[in-house]
Formats: sequence, C-alpha cells, structure tokens
Amino acid sequence: MRNQELPSHEVFASRLARWLGAPLNLIEELGHYLLILPLNTLLRRLDRASYWLEGTWLRAVIAHTLFPLTLIISMWLGFEATEAGASITSIATLALIPVVYGLFAAPLERLMPFSRDWLEGGNDMTVDVMMFFSNAFWNGFAKYLIQVLFLVSLVEALEPYGHELWPNELPGAMQVMLFILIKDFFRYWLHRALHENAFLWRFHATHHSVKRLYWLNGIRSHPVEVIVQAILFAAPFALLQPSAEIVMVAVFMQLSIGLFQHSNIDLKLGFWEYLFSIGDNHRYHHYPDKKIGDCNYGGEFIVWDILFGTFHKVKGERPSDNIGIGGSPNYPMTLTGLLIAPFLKNQRFDESVIPDRD
Ligand SMILES: [Zn+2]
Ligand SMILES: [Zn+2]
Repeated sequence: MRNQELPSHEVFASRLARWLGAPLNLIEELGHYLLILPLNTLLRRLDRASYWLEGTWLRAVIAHTLFPLTLIISMWLGFEATEAGASITSIATLALIPVVYGLFAAPLERLMPFSRDWLEGGNDMTVDVMMFFSNAFWNGFAKYLIQVLFLVSLVEALEPYGHELWPNELPGAMQVMLFILIKDFFRYWLHRALHENAFLWRFHATHHSVKRLYWLNGIRSHPVEVIVQAILFAAPFALLQPSAEIVMVAVFMQLSIGLFQHSNIDLKLGFWEYLFSIGDNHRYHHYPDKKIGDCNYGGEFIVWDILFGTFHKVKGERPSDNIGIGGSPNYPMTLTGLLIAPFLKNQRFDESVIPDRD
C-alpha cells in the first residue's frame, strides 16, 4: 500500500513510531546479528544428528516421555526452588527461566522438529526477547495499578472468607493444578473474547503475527492484553487466596506447559492433548483461517474447550505449518510496529514506513 492511500493521521502515526522506535529497531538489528545468526550457526550443527535420529527407537522414547517427565520435574523443581526462597517475580529469575528453557528446547527443536520450515525465523526471536522484558514491566505495572486501585481493599474486604474457600489441606501438587485450572477458566473466556470480538482481536493479533511456532513465542502478547489479563486474574484469587508458594509453583508450571504449547518439537502426546493445550491443539489455533483457528483457547488445560465446544483436533491429521493472520500478510514484524498496530484503522501499514525484514 502506498503512503498516499493511508489516512494522513496514520502516516503521521507510522512515521512517529518509526522515529520513536529507532533505538528499538537498532537493538533488533544488533540482536539479529549478535544473537540469532550465531545461535542458528551453532544449532545447524545438529542437523546431521537430526536426520540420523529419524525413525529410531530413541526418538520414539523421547517423543512419548518428554512432556510427562518435564511436567513432573517442573513440579518438583518449583516446590524445591520456592522452599529455597526463589521468587518468580524477581527479574533475575524471570530472565533466567527463558535462558534455561532455551538451552533445553532449542537443541531439541533442531534434533526432532515438527516442521523444518519453522527452524529459523527472521527477526522474530529478538522481538520476542524484547517483548518478554517489556511485558514483565507491564505485568509489574498492572499489578501496581491493581494494588493501588482496588486489590488491597478487595483483599481486606474478602479476608474473612478467603481462607475458608481455598483447600489448603490438599496435597501441594493438586493445589497447583487446581489453581491453574481455575485461572484457565478465566483465560479461556478472555482468549475466546479476544478472538470473537473484532476490537479485542486487534490486540490479540500481536500473538498471532508469528509465522512459525517455536519455544519462545508464547510470550508474544500486546501489553494491553497483558494488563487486562492481570486485572482479570487478580480478582478471583483475591477471594480464593491460595498460599504464595502455590501461586509461584503454578506460575512456574504455566511457563513449562507454555513451552510445549508453542515448541516445534515433534512429540507423540496422545492422551495429554486431551488434557492440556499443547502440541497439535495450538498449531490449529494459529491457523490463518479463523474458521479453523478460532478454537482451542485454553491457556494450559484444554478441558474448558472440550466442555464449551471449541475443541478442534482431527485424529491422525498433521496440522499445516502455514500459520499467521489471514488477510494481513504484511502485519508488522518489528516491536514498535506490533505495539502500535492495534491503534491504526484496519491495522494497515505502509511497509516503506515501517520496514519488515525477513
Ligand atoms: Zn489466540
Ligand atoms: Zn499461541
């Protein structure tokens, strides 16, 4: 689309974003050359082993056991780490988790990929890393807003009832799963609204702008979605009041399950895909055609989709690896472009104003 075809205020907004976003675009460029290219060169060394692994019993064993083993180890690690005093809210832990997950997931994606076309993206990984820190900030901001505005008084008002509602007598692992299940009920309805309402979709399109699925892009969300979600999740748990330890282990478990939601590792998940929102379930969710993609909204569990009739899975079918936003092939790919896209009419951009680099 040419500049003159865009409304003048949108051309102005695009230019302003380009100038304001210039330092971010520079960081993206640096990240691309200093982080992504060397990482891909290193990972390409695994390609020969990857072809060798195909069809072996070793690949089959990993494909069947990786998810349940990770689930059990994450639960154990989560309780050990919180007992040792680790806090999931500290920026050091927050930064450490994706590094550890990357060391584990990136080689596995290269060794046993679902799609070889998804092994290398353009600038998506640098954008995702930047979005991770930007959203950590916005999440903190939302929590601050919630506390200042209403949560403190809400917690105080609900305090006499809260402790009786949460089943503290249940084993820790069950409390963690219960916490995630309840949180996911709210995530299900928010996520469904984000897809079904045209205005809300503008903000959720950020997440669907990805052209490939890999271990890190679960964290790609627009700050507006992050803030709305933080506020939505806060109220029910102010009433239920699980212990801080349960909440922290649950957040850690959510990150672990999230890793399998987007990862490009070719796993044989079987029964687990009818319990959790992982693997092929989420590949269908990223279809460009919303007639198929408006499904499988669960954040961690898939049971709410099964219950409310939005579960989609075709037994024996391999989902397509052609994903993205249908009708918007030129959706911006830079962090600045992604941040302002929801505020522009039709989310249209002149690519000469906000460049897209593959
Ligand atoms: Zn979605
Ligand atoms: Zn996703």
